[in-house]
Amino acid sequence: MFDFLSNKFSNLFSRLTGQSKLTEANIKETLQKVKDSLLEADVPYVLVETFLQEISNEVVGQKVLTATLKPGEHLIKIIHEKMVAFLGSAQGVESIMFQIPSVIMLMGLQGSGKTTTVAKLAYFVQKQAEKRGKSRKILLASVDFHRPAALEQLEILAQQVGVDFYRSSLQDSCAAAVDIHNYYKKNGYEHLFLDTAGRMHIDTSLLQELKMIDSKLHPKYKYLVLDAMTGQESLRVAQLYEESVGFNGAILTKIDSDTRGGAAFAFRYTIKKPIVFIGAGEKVGDLEFCRPERMASRILGMGDIQSLIERAEEKIKQSDKDALEKSLQQGKMSLIDFAQQLEMMNKIGSLSQIMNYMPGLGQNKLTPEMVEKGEKEIKRFRAIINSMTLKEKLCPALLNGSRKQRIAQGAGVTVTHINEFLDRFEKSQQFVKLFKKLGKLPGFN
Ligand code: GDP
Ligand code: MG
Repeated sequence: MFDFLSNKFSNLFSRLTGQSKLTEANIKETLQKVKDSLLEADVPYVLVETFLQEISNEVVGQKVLTATLKPGEHLIKIIHEKMVAFLGSAQGVESIMFQIPSVIMLMGLQGSGKTTTVAKLAYFVQKQAEKRGKSRKILLASVDFHRPAALEQLEILAQQVGVDFYRSSLQDSCAAAVDIHNYYKKNGYEHLFLDTAGRMHIDTSLLQELKMIDSKLHPKYKYLVLDAMTGQESLRVAQLYEESVGFNGAILTKIDSDTRGGAAFAFRYTIKKPIVFIGAGEKVGDLEFCRPERMASRILGMGDIQSLIERAEEKIKQSDKDALEKSLQQGKMSLIDFAQQLEMMNKIGSLSQIMNYMPGLGQNKLTPEMVEKGEKEIKRFRAIINSMTLKEKLCPALLNGSRKQRIAQGAGVTVTHINEFLDRFEKSQQFVKLFKKLGKLPGFN
């Protein structure tokens, strides 16, 4: 799903996360890349602009170069949060349960997936009821008299799902809708899912027809079915339906295809109504709740990004912050301090440069090989520390065999390297103190 956007973003972020520092220049470069991929994905220009403006405001405001979050992680987190906000908050989506009794009407262009989605919804509701040991009395019907075989298509689908289908003998769509509605009420159905006609392109007589049906039946739920493959075009459709008939939310279909993410963005941004369900295939079971969190993660490049975000969040959890403060107050030396020292060293300059400033060390006549080895080691240390959780940094004694293995994998080193590192850390109190002193020297902070 949204493969196009996802690939773009994962390339971008794999490069970004590999960097140790995020400068103003490469933040800009990054945002420009985000912009390009969104535009290429058919997200309207104005939305892209707003989206990026909000991100850059936050990046500047929040000072990306923090000690506990890697800059790349920080930027990803902000972009992810923004993406979720644009796509809609996840809250409440899963609690959607159609009231009993209720009429659910689907609208949309021809070929957008209305008929299929009517069947999918019926199946969905039935499955949900079954999970609670219940069953729903569901009726499917259609007032699509424009498309040949539209009624037969729905009838077959109804059989497949195992729910009832009713065909009105009336030919006028509005009169047929009323007839269907009466049948639904008379027979004590709990839900009526009503399929409507669509056109290849929107026209006023169709909207008029839908408006009439709406005023007669007062469906409790009206959904616009949008084909995710249509990009910006779907936005225009949504606007027209919204202005004339109105609806509660959208169902985005065909996101299983090689589609672009633009439609979801554009819809949420302009219409501000929820995307309630997503259709991810042609079968009746291929319908799911739309979860903006998940959608955003997928757009941003999936699993690896998600785990980065989780790690970032873990780092800033309040309880952890408290633990950090406590350990610092107690004057205990933790790996956090060690990491900060290393970070500081990185800012100051190379090891050989630093050695020149260090009383005693400068006269030790370090060979270039030794310096090179030292710098490699520091790089490795940094990678190891970055692969540790905050708790582990605060309490290195936690590091048992399996944790070491995990860290080794994350840092691309061996367990022996980690043992070396821990050994060095033990012996480093003196070293760290030196750097603390160095930090207080004029010109260094
Ligand atoms: P309608 O004209 O709006 O009623 O659209 P249909 O329900 O007849 O669907 C048009 C075509 O799109 C059919 O071939 C469906 O099988 C297909 N379709 C509908 N929803 C999805 C979806 O979520 N994914 C895929 N891949 N195809 C879909
Ligand atoms: Mg149809």
